[in-house]
Amino acid sequence: MSSLFISDLHLSAATPRTCERLIGWLESHANVARDLWILGDLFEVWVGDDTIDDPLERDWLEPILRALRAFSASLNRSGPGKIRLIRGNRDFLLGARFAQTASLTIVDEPAEVTIGGVPTLLLHGDTLCTDDLAYQAFRQEVRTPQWIDAFLARPYAERRAIAAQMRDASRAAGTTKASAITDANPAEAQALLARHRVRRMIHGHTHRPARHEYPQGERFVLTDWDFDVPQDKGCAISATRGGGLWVQADGSVHQSI
Ligand code: MN
Repeated sequence: MSSLFISDLHLSAATPRTCERLIGWLESHANVARDLWILGDLFEVWVGDDTIDDPLERDWLEPILRALRAFSASLNRSGPGKIRLIRGNRDFLLGARFAQTASLTIVDEPAEVTIGGVPTLLLHGDTLCTDDLAYQAFRQEVRTPQWIDAFLARPYAERRAIAAQMRDASRAAGTTKASAITDANPAEAQALLARHRVRRMIHGHTHRPARHEYPQGERFVLTDWDFDVPQDKGCAISATRGGGLWVQADGSVHQSI
């Protein structure tokens, strides 16, 4: 039995193969997982939990919600494990109704957990990209309760239109930003490890899967689930009960510190 970590699936009506891949992955891992952490950007966009009622989204979204509920039920049968989710920058408006419908628990980041005896910090990862000043300013604005309340008070169709505009603007900005600017800042990662007195962190967001080693500890970066990536490439990190050995689903084995 192991703890599983995934992130950056970016599911939408436009990614039917990735949706199918997740459903298959959940079915095949139901019996080996102790718990599952989704570290953000499960969805490409989420403008509010009333997305669940949108007839145009139902065809792809309902099977995902059903698969998450089934996975959660299988965890509950085998022990106290459950699905926990940290919101990403794409789906930070996931709320209580979604959590209930998907049978999971939403957890604020950074989450300090002990996995296999090792204190570990879990986060989406966008907060580590401190060199991207424009993004951090935007993030600060849209994550205030005032902004969120005002946004959620708008009609659903209007929220979809605003989200589409934001995505286009972010894409346009992304193409002109240097690659180093949109990556995690190593000094920020090390400061965070030190501040929380943990020797390990796991995050996603940057789509640059890796294991980084610092004097303060190690940083695992999860891969995204782009279907153009071969099936056998890693899509998850799993922690064995002993906590010492971490295996990525691509077959590469990382000896942890
Ligand atoms: Mn992200």
